[in-house]
Amino acid sequence: MIRLNDIFGQDAAVASLRAAVAADRLPHGLIFAGPEGVGKATTAAGLAGLFLCEKPGEDDACGKCRSCQVMESGNHPDYHVITKELARVHDKSGTSKATQLSINVIRYDLAEPAGRKTVLGRGKFFVIEQAELMTDAAQNAMLKTLEEPAGRCLIVLLTTHASELLPTIRSRCQTIRFASLPVQMVVKHLQRRGIDESTAEAAAEFSDGSLGLAIRWIEDGILGHATGVAEAMDMILAGRGAELVDLLRKGADAYAAKALERDELASKDSAVRAGLGVYLAFAARRIRQKIRSSGDEDFLDRACDAVDAIARAEKYLGANVNVSLVLEQLAGALRGEIGEPQRR
Ligand SMILES: [Zn+2]
Repeated sequence: MIRLNDIFGQDAAVASLRAAVAADRLPHGLIFAGPEGVGKATTAAGLAGLFLCEKPGEDDACGKCRSCQVMESGNHPDYHVITKELARVHDKSGTSKATQLSINVIRYDLAEPAGRKTVLGRGKFFVIEQAELMTDAAQNAMLKTLEEPAGRCLIVLLTTHASELLPTIRSRCQTIRFASLPVQMVVKHLQRRGIDESTAEAAAEFSDGSLGLAIRWIEDGILGHATGVAEAMDMILAGRGAELVDLLRKGADAYAAKALERDELASKDSAVRAGLGVYLAFAARRIRQKIRSSGDEDFLDRACDAVDAIARAEKYLGANVNVSLVLEQLAGALRGEIGEPQRR
């Protein structure tokens, strides 16, 4: 089973959770807010082990009691994890794209089991992944359980976008922030898993300190595109121009293909958008890194222009503009303002 002792790089979050457990001051609802793949779900699982343990030690689960044993076996009857994939179970057509967590999911998988007696007697623990995908109706259906749960109950909402949750939910939960992991820490952990140093470094940079994403992207084999984007950014910043847009498109397509392999009912357009967003953010980080190490004014001008172009592309992407148009705009901005001034 996952123990709080196993969590690394999130000392502040874990310490505040331990303090709340020790003082018996856990609220009914917690929001774990922070980037993807930095340990929110792992920490929730560790906290569940401690919360449900029959003989908890000072700051962690005992690992031996009946509750810890079933936790270890992966099917604790009082531990419920709610995902957007569950939405499909409640959709009779079975073809739902499940891009939202509906009121049905919250009713059947949270409110109803929360109202029943606990099976092992220690309480009930719920985790909602990607909680920002809950519809307003779903969030409202959760309020009663948050306010007056039947018995000892803890709901943990995992989210990368806490601000998208309703104010009524946020005000009833305590928010615990999870930060990106230091890049060197991610590199070390990847190497411990047998990944070679240069791959580990590229993955840690590309994922911006998210161990979960770094592992996924290594498995997906899409780091090559990231390296290509990094090199193209360097060329553009050197004033030489590069086929960045083509690389971005290929990278986003490869990203989307892997996402659809994992989940064939996912939307292709959203997957391409998500992929492109990842590569744009990476390109912007690359520029920031270079700026830190340069005092050259011409370079700074080019870098600022490139950042502006990327920021506009990210804005269009968020405003649901067609992906091809986003890329065309970006290509034009990079050609016109930087990279290939002869075409001005
Ligand atoms: Zn135990």
